[in-house]
Amino acid sequence: MSVLVLAEQREGAIHPTTYELLARGRMLADKLETPVNCAVIGCDPGEGGCSEIIYRGADAVYVVNEPASIDFRLPGAASRALQRVIELTAPEIVVAAATTTGRTIMPLVAARLRTGLTADCTGLDIDDKEKLLLQTRPAIGGNIMATIKTPSARPQMATVRPKSWRPLERDASRRGVVRKVSLQGYELGPEAGCERLIDVVKDTTQEVSVQDAEIVVTGGKGVKNRDGFKLVEELAAALGAGVGATRDVVDLGWASYPHQIGLSGKTVSPRLYIAVGVSGAVQHLAGMQTSETIVAINKDKDAQIFKVADFGIVGDLFDVVPDLIARLKAEKAGR
Ligand code: FAD
Repeated sequence: MSVLVLAEQREGAIHPTTYELLARGRMLADKLETPVNCAVIGCDPGEGGCSEIIYRGADAVYVVNEPASIDFRLPGAASRALQRVIELTAPEIVVAAATTTGRTIMPLVAARLRTGLTADCTGLDIDDKEKLLLQTRPAIGGNIMATIKTPSARPQMATVRPKSWRPLERDASRRGVVRKVSLQGYELGPEAGCERLIDVVKDTTQEVSVQDAEIVVTGGKGVKNRDGFKLVEELAAALGAGVGATRDVVDLGWASYPHQIGLSGKTVSPRLYIAVGVSGAVQHLAGMQTSETIVAINKDKDAQIFKVADFGIVGDLFDVVPDLIARLKAEKAGR
């Protein structure tokens, strides 16, 4: 028995999302008293990279990057590679990121293994009694949180949103093993002959720094119009923060979609999240509630956002935000 985590990589380098997944995997594995294995597909992170994966919670790293004749960027090949690691490690649970990679590879593997897959989970846990994986995700338009179990088929498979869990502290005293796995001679299936990579085109429309920002300032419909949203952008600039927006603000055209935080937008987990004129709908909370510290500014003292906020300012944002900006500017000038 084991828990398997699919590493996330970008252009040959291990992406930090992998460490979030390993922290989740470790939590589940500790409850099952079983090891955590990590599958790295289509790149070789080398000794340093594999050690880092172990320091972040893995007991063993399986690197599948051979033979060179296979292009592991193709979903068919990458999914066969994951399937091979599943055959070698017989995991109870397989966890991947809800990114393009995870969302493409995991369904292919789940279908071939005739098992279940819950996409886009916000919560994973272990049922104390049955020791089954509890896979929680928003359902019915985000109005309820559904917890799904896979009682009989194995492995239990789930993808989780990046930034919905915190990585573990790096522990350089951890030890583990690294195994190289080759797909030489492995049956790649009928899709091997029909897929070909034509080009890789980078999606630059999503290049907004909000997901990696340490501080995020988000504006909601309370800002009233595009000019009001500029106050949010000004506060973010004064704090060196990323700019977020609710779906209503994006729908109204005051901010572009890459800024949207929530169920149908991005998930963020910054050190500080400032919500300005945001009501705190469940679909918005799904994208920001793992933030370390949440500050809410709202004129309605009963707004939902105050239920998750660590600090709340009940007041008119058109008084509070300009005052905050002025104080921050004065503080900077005084230095
Ligand atoms: P409102 O709910 O209208 O809140 C505005 C707030 O501003 C109020 O609390 C009000 O008290 C306050 N306010 C007004 N004036 C002032 C003032 N002068 N000073 C201070 N406060 C003031 N929403 C998302 O954000 N992200 C998503 O990804 C998302 N996905 C969704 C997916 C689905 C399937 C569905 C059905 C909905 C989704 N939504 C999402 C929409 C969500 O349900 C809410 O409608 C939305 O989050 C509300 O946005 P808001 O807080 O900006 O607006």
